[in-house]
Amino acid sequence: MIALSEKPRIIVSACLLGNLVRFNGQHSRDRFVDSLSEFFELDTTCPEVEAGMGIPREPIRIVQNGTARVVGVQTSKDYTDLLEDFSSRKINAFRRQAIDGFIMKQKSPSCGLFSVKNYLPNGHPQGRRAGIFGEHLMASFQNQPIEEEGRLNDPLLRESFLMRVYAHHRLRSFFRSEPSAGEIVEFHSKEKLLLLAHCQKMYRHLGQMVSNPKGYKPADFKEEYVRCFMEALRSKYSHKSYINVIQHCFGYVKSDVTPDTKRHFMKVLSEYSQQMIPLSSILGVLESLIEQYQVEYLKQQTFFSPYPRELKLRNFTMGAT
Ligand code: SF4
Repeated sequence: MIALSEKPRIIVSACLLGNLVRFNGQHSRDRFVDSLSEFFELDTTCPEVEAGMGIPREPIRIVQNGTARVVGVQTSKDYTDLLEDFSSRKINAFRRQAIDGFIMKQKSPSCGLFSVKNYLPNGHPQGRRAGIFGEHLMASFQNQPIEEEGRLNDPLLRESFLMRVYAHHRLRSFFRSEPSAGEIVEFHSKEKLLLLAHCQKMYRHLGQMVSNPKGYKPADFKEEYVRCFMEALRSKYSHKSYINVIQHCFGYVKSDVTPDTKRHFMKVLSEYSQQMIPLSSILGVLESLIEQYQVEYLKQQTFFSPYPRELKLRNFTMGAT
């Protein structure tokens, strides 16, 4: 179970939360992002307004002219230095803050991450890229998840993003005090199956780190542990890995259950394997067995509840990868 003292903190493009900061004085409220305030502390930034471009203002776009320049669509005024300077200052300010993730406005020449149109000097669009501020964010924050709101409509990307926000928050809360070697073992023990489901290589590396923490200075241990932990969870979802972890968990109760229960579990697992039912269904069956047989090690695994259940992020059928 997640029992953290405060909500994870996400920085969001201000227009997505209904702030009237767009070039035309409007907003781009996103219903899903808005709904996250129940579970997360949402703080906003609007690079263009905070850089001093005002409301209303002329729209801008990125033109590739040797280097990428941000220019006004109407006047061709060059805003690149203004936005670059602001981005550097804002990133430095963010570095001093507790932040677990970022949600940025897609297609924005300032905030966008992957979907911003790149224009040629002749006015024709060619390819997509990051916006000026988005580029700074992605280069500066490797551990915290960063996404565009449009991509969060994809259930897999949504689950992955919010799972990583919560993971970063657990890590941040845990390393706030200097944990002892024993506390690190205890923390890591609860995360093992989640890590195993995402990346075997990092699972092994982190296990070795935890069994030999004396090989690191405390600050280096924390940095490496957090980096590798978050890298593991960035790995693309693998249906096969999840099935392996589920089978591994069933191994804890296999010899205790009745033949009927075993048959039922194998049927549900087969349906999950064939993508006929969502992850939440097979985990529900498994968790009831874990509860029935009081398997303490499994009851504590974040694999079963990496975020509040109310978010309902595992209630869809995932595609095999
Ligand atoms: S996309 Fe970014 S820069 Fe543009 S209005 Fe929204 S928050 Fe401001």
